[in-house]
Parts: sequence; C-alpha cells; structure tokens
Amino acid sequence: MAPDEPRPSTERIAFRTCPLCEATCGLEITVRGDTVVRIRGDRHDVFSAGFICPKGSTLKQLHDDPDRLRGPLVRRDGVHVEVSWAEAWAEVERRLTEVIDRHGRQAIATYHGNPVAHSLGAMLFGRPFSQALANPVRFTASTVDQWPRQVAAGHVFGSPVAVPVPDLDRTDLLVVIGANPMVSNGSLCTTPDVPGRLAALRARGGTLVVLDPVRTRTAQEADWWLPIRPGTDALALAAVVNSLAAAGRIDPGEHLAGHVDGLDEAVAAVAGLTAESVADVTGIPATDMHRLAGMLADAPSAVVYGRIGTTTAGFGTVTSWLIDLVNTVTGNLDRPGGAMFAEPAASPVGGGSGGRRGFHAGSRRSRVSGHPVVLGEHPAAAMAEEIVTPGEGQLRALITVAGNPVLSTPHGAALDAALDELELMIAVDIYLNETTRHADIVLPPPSALQRSHFDAALAPFFVRNVANYSPAVLPLEPGRPDEWEILAKLALIAQGAGAEADPDVVTGLAVAGLVRSATQDDASVVAGRDPDELIALIGDRRGPEALLDVMVQLGPYGAAFGARPDGLTLDRLIEHPHGIDLGPLRPRLPGLLRTASGRVELAPPAVLVDLERVRAELLGGARQRGPGSALLVGRRHLRSNNSWMHNVSVLVSGRPRCTLLVHPDDAAAWGVLDGGVARVTSRVGSVEVPVEVTDEIRPGVVSLPHGWGHGVDGTRLRVAAEHAGVNSNLLTDDRAIDPLSATSTLNAIPVQVSPVGGR
Ligand code: SF4
Repeated sequence: MAPDEPRPSTERIAFRTCPLCEATCGLEITVRGDTVVRIRGDRHDVFSAGFICPKGSTLKQLHDDPDRLRGPLVRRDGVHVEVSWAEAWAEVERRLTEVIDRHGRQAIATYHGNPVAHSLGAMLFGRPFSQALANPVRFTASTVDQWPRQVAAGHVFGSPVAVPVPDLDRTDLLVVIGANPMVSNGSLCTTPDVPGRLAALRARGGTLVVLDPVRTRTAQEADWWLPIRPGTDALALAAVVNSLAAAGRIDPGEHLAGHVDGLDEAVAAVAGLTAESVADVTGIPATDMHRLAGMLADAPSAVVYGRIGTTTAGFGTVTSWLIDLVNTVTGNLDRPGGAMFAEPAASPVGGGSGGRRGFHAGSRRSRVSGHPVVLGEHPAAAMAEEIVTPGEGQLRALITVAGNPVLSTPHGAALDAALDELELMIAVDIYLNETTRHADIVLPPPSALQRSHFDAALAPFFVRNVANYSPAVLPLEPGRPDEWEILAKLALIAQGAGAEADPDVVTGLAVAGLVRSATQDDASVVAGRDPDELIALIGDRRGPEALLDVMVQLGPYGAAFGARPDGLTLDRLIEHPHGIDLGPLRPRLPGLLRTASGRVELAPPAVLVDLERVRAELLGGARQRGPGSALLVGRRHLRSNNSWMHNVSVLVSGRPRCTLLVHPDDAAAWGVLDGGVARVTSRVGSVEVPVEVTDEIRPGVVSLPHGWGHGVDGTRLRVAAEHAGVNSNLLTDDRAIDPLSATSTLNAIPVQVSPVGGR
C-alpha cells in the first residue's frame, strides 16, 4: 500500500517510544487487529522527528518471535516445562519460602539487566521488590557499564544522577572519548539521530574530535581521530589539564564564580602528567595533546564526552572525574554548548529536594573479596564467588530480571558453573537464554509492544528536555500479568503475603509512599497538603501509570495536583502522543548540587587517592610486550544490542559480526590471516574466533564484540544459535575492578593472540 492510500478501516496507528536503546526514537506503528503491520519512524515525534535505526522496526519481529516465552516455565527433572500462571506462582511461593526459612532473606540476590532501565514497570516495581527482600545483595548491569560515570558525578556534584551531558545541538567542539554514538546511538547522552546531530554540528562550523583505539564509525565522521592506547584516557585528560595550566588558560568562567571548590587542588593533583610525560603510554604525541587543549580553550563552546571505553577500562571513576575537570576548567560546565544537566519531567531517582547530604559510597564491602558495595550495588563480577564460597551470607537464590550475565559479565564460565550451585533461581525474562536456562522458574513478561512506556531512568541524560508517554500498543493475552504485576507479586510473596496476593497492594503502598514523603518535604510543591486528598486524585490508575502520574505532577513541570493548572499530568502526556518538548537544556547550578558544601567539589579525596593508582599502574614501569601480546577492546554494531537481540534474523543476517579485528602489521607478525581463526587467551580463559584484518584499529589492539556465545544446550534461541559467535566475557577478568565504582574492566584486557591451525 502506498503511504498516502487510505488504510483499511480495521487498521489503526499507534505511537510508541522505542525502548531498545537510549535514543528514545518515536515509532509510528500500524496495527491490524492484534497484528503489527508496519513500524517506521514517527515524523512528528518532538525529539526524533522520524529517525529510527534498523533495530527500531524489529519490535514486530521480537513480538512475533516464536522463541519468545508466552507462559511461565518450571524446571522438572532438568527440563523446562510450561505451566499455568497459578502453578508458577505456587511454585515461587513454595521454593522462595523454603530458601527464606532455611537461610534468611540475605541469602537471596537479584540481578537486573540493562533492559530494566528501558521498562517503566520494571524500573518502578523493582524497588518494592528489593525492599521486600530486605536489602538483598543487588547486582545489576551498571557495574559492567556506566557506574563510574555516575559515581564520579556523585563525588563532584553530590548525586549519581547529576551526570552532565553534552549539549550536542549547540556545541562548537565535541570531543568524544571511548564512545561510538554513530553506532550505539548515544548513551548517557540520550538523543535520537546522532548522525543528523553530528551533521548539524559540522554544518554550523563545529568540529568533531574522537579519541579511540579503533577508527569507529564515529571516528570516520570526525575531523580528527586520535588513536589512543586503550585504558590510558585518564592520562590524556590529565595532559590536557596540564597543557591548559601551563598556558594560563584554566578558567571555569564567571557563571561558576563562587560555586566551585577544589579547583587549585585538582589541577595540582594532576601535576606532572604532562603531554610529554604520558605520550609514550597513551600513544598520542605531545604536540597533539597541546593542540587539543588549545582547541578546547579557544572554542566558543566545547564539551568532552566519554562513554564505555572510559568507564570500563580500569580507571573509570578517575577518568570520568577528569572529563568533568576538563569541561570545568575550559569554562564549559553548565553552559550552552558545553556539559549541561537535563531537568527530567519525572524521575524515580534523585527527585524531591534531595537535601545536601553529600555523596558516600563504598563503606560496605562484599563478603568474599571485600570489593566495595557502591550505592547498594555489588560488583556483577563477584556474583559467582558469592554463590560458590561457603560461609555465612553465601548466596543460595538468585532472581534475575531481563539479564543475561553469563554473556554480559566477567569470567562468564565461572558464573555459568556457579548458577548450577544455587538452591533456587527465578528469572523474569522473555527468553530462555544462556543465563535463564539455569532457572528453576521462568516468569516471562509481555513483549515491549504490550507494555506502556516512559523513559524515567534515561531522563537525567536527555540532551533536550522532553517528556513522552506511550500506552501499550497491543493488549495483554487474557490472564497474563504485566511486568510490574510479576515484580509486585514477587515482592508480596517474599513478604509472606502468599501467591494469591493482589499486586495492586504494592501500587497503593508505593503511591502512598511517594505522596506522603512529598507532602512532608518543605521544598516540595505539595508541602503540607493532605496526602489522602492527593492520593484520591490519582483515581483508579494502576501500576506504573499511578506512580508516573504522581512523579510527573510532582516534577518541575508538573501540575502539583491542581496547584499549577497548566502543569503536566499523565493525562496531558497522553494527549500528546508525539511527546512534549520542554526546551533546550538550561543552566542548573548551583540549585542541582547535592554536595555537602553546596558547591561543585572538584577535588574529591577518594578520587585523588585513586589517581595515584593511575600513575602507579600506567606509568609505573615497562610493560613487557612479547609476540602476540595485545590489549583487547569491545565494539558495538548498529544491528546488535548486548546479548538479547540476536534471535531476530534480520539483525544477524549477512557477514558474521563476532570477529576479532586485528591490524595488518600484527596479523603479519602473529601469523594470523584474514578469514582465518585465532586463539585469544587471557588470564581467565580462551576463545577461538574468526579474524578480520583491518587498518581501522591501532596496532597492538584487538577488538571483539560482547553479547555473543549462543547455541548452548538448554537455551531456546534458534536464530541466535545459528549465529552463535563466542562469548568475549570468557576472557574478561573478574578480579579487575575499579575500586571506586566496583565496575569491571571490560576494555584494555591483556591477551595473547595466536593462529589456530598454524600460520
Ligand atoms: S536508535 Fe535506539 S531507540 Fe532509535 S530506533 Fe534504534 S534501537 Fe530504537
């Protein structure tokens, strides 16, 4: 049918924000009956204006995927069998109660995967569930991802959600480190249409610089690519600060006068890490570092933006702090075109007046290895040892939500083996994957198209203030619980309320909690009002919608339950299916700050201490490099998203994506051939993988994407099994952890590469 032809009367159009990545693109979805006919970009979406990537339209394939679980599974005699929801809940109650009675709630851990951040129900009802387990050992994908960026924000700005984002649409100079937004579509920098936004940067005369060991798609777009050695970004950033200091160009700007503490101390802390002294280690000539510093100082506006390559390369928190330091000393913090802060319409974390309590992290330690527990998060890398190591506090049960840590966290082989040691594993997941195959009970949530959506978790990272709510596109099958109902029911069972308990009880408690704390907060717009009167105004909304309405009404643009008649409510968001544009980022300092001093704290003591680790480990001696020695880094592909979209045939067709990139000079020296197979060995494991020889990578560095390694017995991912690839996390080291953020080192891993089958 041509686009302008009248549609059959049975068709309807629904608008929905894509939940697959952080870009939050608007989708226009044509539905006939309960069948999705077509998905394309929503041209009227206030943020994405029609842009989508190849993954966006595959929400249809994900919904229709015959391998996606439609009903719960229980493992009996080692085999997963389908059961009714009533049977599944009875089994959950029986088994969970047994574990709690025998070992206590502290023996139960949870793991939340990345998709939780893209699910309103999982975001909002994961917390009551954790509370019901009375502070369980909590693991999430954050400690293999962005946690150092948020921990640095905690130290500098007082809150882990006060993360500065690049003001992409107004900057004159964008310096990207360890990120590939042309392919990843942006992260901690929520923005649709990165290609369009980078084209706009160039069109207005701006400049793009990329520091990355791989000439990524983003680096290919850049005016200047600096092929830095993996894991040395902190040194490069320190060199920039020293270059600026030597030129007398440290200047946070008038707008920050009186709002910054520790400037001199921070600059002094990096003294000696000059462009000249670090050049051999970073691989970037000193002249280039001085030039970059000069560009940052000269640009009318500029911003340094770092992502996964900076957070998961061993010194993530220090590197993230240095990014804040460079943005501050060049006068680009909290001003248009620089590093700014979003102002979300609703956010489940960091809301309210917040107080100025300062940031504290890492006072608790993990049981076995004494890793820091940061903001309640245990390092995901420690999951296996916490399961298999006997003693008080040993984990006996694990509940995963939308996660596949066997493929996503370090030393996957150890975790794969450890999961079989559990007395109980429950998985809330749409697939039987490499992790959930170990589960005793699998509780599948509905597909994304059957759930409503609002990007509450990503809102602090938007590059423009936008609010966009989407109702579910397709109805739930009769008798099928929504994702929030699954989590609410788990919470109730964990509290002893039984398998018959009503999930709406949790909604009521959560709404009451939010409203009551707001009415008791002197800084809130509803301070002093009758909480029961406000709760009554929510009406009969259930689940995430009830909570979201409260959060939006209490937010900075909210109606405050009638006190601001023109303000936002959930009803108003529903009236705007293409979203509501709340404008460009606005300066937010000092009001945003939650530090104890009420100022930007540029010299956090813990970070300065860890800076010495950077000096010691990176500059502390000659690094022996024999034949075949390399540093392993990951990479992204536009058609892949961590581990869980490899069962969509249109995304995995074509050339194999799970290959090892090797520079031609290294290939010749090591005897590996393009199209041949190489063995890659690290301290913890070894894989054999097809080789792709390319000069798009720095010599001495090899690259392997993560999320692969399918085709394992007990999984039900038929397409993925045909495109299995290898699990890069068989190589990542569970002992390599950033001590400030408990985050694993997934990049810059020392490996040996050798040909398989001779030269
Ligand atoms: S860029 Fe991300 S949000 Fe946009 S369509 Fe692709 S997967 Fe969806």
